[in-house]
Amino acid sequence: MKDSNFLKENNGRNFWQPMTHPVDAHMNPPTIVTGGEGVSIIDVDGHKVVDAVGGLWNVNLGYSCEPAKRAIAEQLSALPYYSCFRGTTNDKAIELSYELADFFAPDGLTRAFFTSGGSDSVETALKLARQYHRVRGENGRTKFISLKKGYHGTHFGGASVNGNSKFRAAYEPLLAGCHHIPAPNAYRNPFDESDPEKLAALCIAALEDEIAFQGADTIAAFIMEPVLGAGGVYPPHKSFMPAVRETCDRHGILLISDEVITAFGRTGSESGARHWGVQPDFMCTAKAITNGYFPFGATMISEKVADVFENDTAGIASVDTGYTYSGHPVGAAAALAVLAEIRRLRIWENAGTRGQELIAGLQDLGRRFDVVGDVRGEGLMCAIELVSDRATKKPAGKEVGMAVQKAAYESGAMLRVSGNMIIFSPPLIVESADIATILSATEAGLAAI
Ligand code: PMP
Repeated sequence: MKDSNFLKENNGRNFWQPMTHPVDAHMNPPTIVTGGEGVSIIDVDGHKVVDAVGGLWNVNLGYSCEPAKRAIAEQLSALPYYSCFRGTTNDKAIELSYELADFFAPDGLTRAFFTSGGSDSVETALKLARQYHRVRGENGRTKFISLKKGYHGTHFGGASVNGNSKFRAAYEPLLAGCHHIPAPNAYRNPFDESDPEKLAALCIAALEDEIAFQGADTIAAFIMEPVLGAGGVYPPHKSFMPAVRETCDRHGILLISDEVITAFGRTGSESGARHWGVQPDFMCTAKAITNGYFPFGATMISEKVADVFENDTAGIASVDTGYTYSGHPVGAAAALAVLAEIRRLRIWENAGTRGQELIAGLQDLGRRFDVVGDVRGEGLMCAIELVSDRATKKPAGKEVGMAVQKAAYESGAMLRVSGNMIIFSPPLIVESADIATILSATEAGLAAI
């Protein structure tokens, strides 16, 4: 490894970081992470902290998942790559599709289409949703509806259904036919409704209204995160996703559950859809599928959709989309090992229990620090929203969050700042002592401002 001076001098010189202004990277050089151990990361200066970010909501089993590391090393020796395009496949991709079909069977999802990551999983679901309707002869169903504040990756399809102008504005014009309705965010919403159940009903009414306005027979799918994540962690009322499912069914619209964050345990259930008791038509997964150790994803497909493709007699159901790395054997081997660990540990249960400890601790901080305007979470995905005035809910400046993050880091935890929010998504294997460290570091951060 180059020495730390070299790394610090070249930090941001030739490297344009994602989601970062190139000038900002010079002014506020990012932390250089060089090691990981258990639920902690170690920086270039040897400082070790609990990773309350969990990599990027993906290192759910921590940095020392030996079965996954072994599987990757062994697969690199056996077969480092082979394509899954028509005519060939590989053993690990087949085995993984079998295991995923078993894991997601209660969600009604028994076919896997492999991708290289979350954005790819979203594009695949959007494309296959349109094709599903074409195969059925409903060629007019091409539009998508999604939630404001939703995050669905960076490709043009995903960016088009994204509900956050920050990720859209610079890249307009986006895909035509993508429409957005308000998200069930009880802290800020256009209805000024703070009761989650009433708010869910209002958002469903907005969905009905949008469907009527567009014409149901023009809409291919509704895409949503079961718990809206990157946009700020907004757990909906438990009635929301079932009501979305019912509305979609009534209008012949497919439901895409974007579970790039929520699949494999983060909400406290095996999947976000299962958490709310819903069976989607597609489920987009990535991130934790390999514990973040290899770029990989899977778009899971329901029996209902599979039936249409697999019974096509007109010859129009060829899946003419895919990636060089679809079903990459090293990624598939990693995912097989990770999935076995997830099931062995029943990791979603720990996410639920530790999540309750985290949210209770954050609520306590919320009572003690006026700068905290809102505290919310589901399982081990939580957020606090920083405000300069509780009454008006005026968002605190980004520098406030950055100052909290800096002091928290010095006190033992890496936090993630997103605008005026601090987002918590630690590995799902955290113990109570790790939650205590995350909370005490957050408290030190809040006290510092
Ligand atoms: N969908 C959701 C819900 C996500 O949270 C993300 C990434 N944070 C994506 C899609 C895109 O995934 P990736 O960054 O792996 O392309």
